[in-house]
Amino acid sequence: MKKEASVILAKCNQGQKLYGIRIEKKDNDWVRTWAFPVKEETAEKEGFDKTNFTGSFYTDEDYPGCPYCGAKKCFVCGNCGKITCYDGSEKVVCSWCGAGGRATNDDEKLDVTGGGF
Ligand SMILES: [Zn+2]
Ligand SMILES: [Zn+2]
Repeated sequence: MKKEASVILAKCNQGQKLYGIRIEKKDNDWVRTWAFPVKEETAEKEGFDKTNFTGSFYTDEDYPGCPYCGAKKCFVCGNCGKITCYDGSEKVVCSWCGAGGRATNDDEKLDVTGGGF
């Protein structure tokens, strides 16, 4: 069986640095399996900023967390739909558009939209 995998873009809460999250399709859901630092130019060239997925995005056992701060959780902005890493504190601020929000639970369905940074 062919593995379905892609990369979504995220930004670190600390220092606003970009990173890619590799996601893999398992049992009709997207699972986060890997994270790595990525440059803005690379993200644009590879089209990481144009991906759009819906799924639970729960973390695989091997998922290393944010490459900069190590946070395993991430927060999807309700305003711009982009991902910011999240260290578990109650309040989160989107690293992309600056909107504050409530952190979503890992069990909730998320809509992830790329583009426009
Ligand atoms: Zn981080
Ligand atoms: Zn935002």
